[in-house]
Amino acid sequence: MLSFSSKIEEVNKIGPAYLKKLHRLKIKTIRDLFLHFPHRYDDFSHFVSISELQINQVATIQGEVVKINYASRSRWRRMGLTEALIKDETGTIKAVWFNQPYLTETLKEGVKVNLSGKIARAKTVLSFSNPAYEIVNKADFTHTGRLVPVYHETAGLSSRYLRYIIKPLLYLTETANDFLPEEIQKEFNLDNLNQSIQQIHFPSDALSAQKARRRLAFNELFLIQLNTLLQKKELEKKRATAIPFNQKLIEPFVKKLPFKLTDDQRVAAWEIFQDMEKNKPMNRLLDGDVGSGKTIAALIAALQTAKAGYQTAFMAPTEILARQHFQTFQNFLKEQDLKIALLTSSVPKTKLKKLIREGEVDIIIGTHSLIQESVSFKNLALAIVDEQHRFGVIQRAALQKNIYEMEDGLPTIPHLLSMTATPIPRTLALTIYGDLDISIIKEMPKGRQKVITKIVAPAGRQKTYDFIKNQIENKKQAFVICPLIEKLDEEIKSVTKEYKKLSKEIFPHFNVAMLHGKLKPKEKETIMKEFSEGITDILVSTSVVEVGVDVPNATVMLIEGAERFGLAQLHQFRGRIGRGDAQSYCFLFTSPKSAKVSGRLKAIVNCHNGFELAEKDLQIRGPGDFTGVRQWGLPDLVMSSLNDLELVKQTRQAARTVLEKNLLTPALKEELKKFQTALHLE
Ligand code: ADP
Ligand code: MG
Repeated sequence: MLSFSSKIEEVNKIGPAYLKKLHRLKIKTIRDLFLHFPHRYDDFSHFVSISELQINQVATIQGEVVKINYASRSRWRRMGLTEALIKDETGTIKAVWFNQPYLTETLKEGVKVNLSGKIARAKTVLSFSNPAYEIVNKADFTHTGRLVPVYHETAGLSSRYLRYIIKPLLYLTETANDFLPEEIQKEFNLDNLNQSIQQIHFPSDALSAQKARRRLAFNELFLIQLNTLLQKKELEKKRATAIPFNQKLIEPFVKKLPFKLTDDQRVAAWEIFQDMEKNKPMNRLLDGDVGSGKTIAALIAALQTAKAGYQTAFMAPTEILARQHFQTFQNFLKEQDLKIALLTSSVPKTKLKKLIREGEVDIIIGTHSLIQESVSFKNLALAIVDEQHRFGVIQRAALQKNIYEMEDGLPTIPHLLSMTATPIPRTLALTIYGDLDISIIKEMPKGRQKVITKIVAPAGRQKTYDFIKNQIENKKQAFVICPLIEKLDEEIKSVTKEYKKLSKEIFPHFNVAMLHGKLKPKEKETIMKEFSEGITDILVSTSVVEVGVDVPNATVMLIEGAERFGLAQLHQFRGRIGRGDAQSYCFLFTSPKSAKVSGRLKAIVNCHNGFELAEKDLQIRGPGDFTGVRQWGLPDLVMSSLNDLELVKQTRQAARTVLEKNLLTPALKEELKKFQTALHLE
């Protein structure tokens, strides 16, 4: 007996080859199959008599196969053509299919069929080209004559196959347990679960499809909300070390900085201090555009923590960035008599780990190594995660798992400060970031000039090189970014090839270096060091310089194959320059193949505000390329509803109600567990 939760192996119709393909999409049970939603529908619900068909009309006809045959047109191109003639009471129409020789087996002469699709004109007569077809033996249709679900066709699974498998199983939705408390269903006017699953796959009309979608999106968003609220509650049960604001330390330190903090930086720092004064763990996200000066806010928090006698760990996503932060901390804190250490995969660790364990190091800066190498701390009171969107959900939380003492029987864990340059739209702040408090730095430090950004046509290449030459003669430096490390494709520029060309032919008198992820950490370090000290004039690099790298003397950013990068990424690249006082320039080159300049590239030319660019990216590419949303591995349906502020608010309210009124039923708990397991959140 099949049920909602049966394994798909038990479905006889699914053969071993398809089983494999479905498993590849993580579809293991009938439930998973049902939750594999169509992303759109073909509206084939319009039945028309053959004599009334019109060109370009999308329609369904019902008739009888008069004639059908298959001809392999050209052996050389292996292009087979099936031609059929269909008639109803009003007339006949021709239909053709390409490369479907088996059709003559299915659509035999005399058989009654539906054909659905767009009407085309071949010479003077109307015809169907590659229409959807279905033999008529009952009044209920699957592939024609209705709103027909269209699924993303990945892993070799056609929509036709999925319809064929899913439809006959849909009666099993009746064995599904609706986990949403009735009170919530009523309050938010939701359809029941069975109906919604049936209707999302095979809707009776567009409105039903829409309602089903809302209910199923509600499910997922609601579970995210519930998970977030429970997480927040869980965190509130834990303890952290209260670190009082140390005015005597901070005020003179800030006064002595080589620059004046912006108001936003001050507010952010103040919010961080407020959180840290409590003996509840801070969970704050510092969100500020590239170059807005987040590091210094983190550094001040680390300084105060160290002077209070506790340790700070600062985790960055790349070795280059970790090293740079290490240097920044050493520079700014050199008069503070603190021990600062760097921990990455390439430094010897045995002795360092011992020092950390014994509390001989105050501030530990590092990469993933900080969480992967089972580093234990003496008293880690502050954990900082830079470019947090580059880490997975689990990695982000890992540092905060360091318990260093018990207070009143409660474990004491570090305060957590995470940082990102990717703006968080309101809907995301209320869902997947719902457990965080957010500080925003909107204002840029004074004196920053807008980076002049230009899309350069191939003919302008030499002129651009001349321009760079001039900048370097004026003691400035330049970045050249290429999409690839090695040459794989004639069209796409690679670091190794451009490096050769630039160092040998174009700029033989300058110092050119190259940087990419395949170099050894030591080599990378030397190259970065020489570039930041001004020894190197031009750095040819892959996207490894994308995050955080800070060389104020660089004034030129040349990007090859710019169309291959996302808006947020291009903005990050551009954020590498314009960090000093001099006017800076960003030149965008595109591959010859994509000579047509996209709206995306034009957006980056005209817009210099990361928050606005993020909104545009959200519109153009959806939330998938956003703020680490991808790491959540959310289904498409949820992804698209992450734009629906109204629904987001309702689900948050629903989750609150459930917790307040104690409606957390066993069914709901079980569903939440499944949700957490699927997203690896547990
Ligand atoms: P991001 O927010 O992208 O991490 P950084 O913290 O790397 O930015 O800061 C970028 C640069 O701006 C650094 O060189 C930093 O020293 C400098 N900076 C930070 N705050 C200010 C300020 N208030 N005025 C001038 N320069 C600043
Ligand atoms: Mg940074």
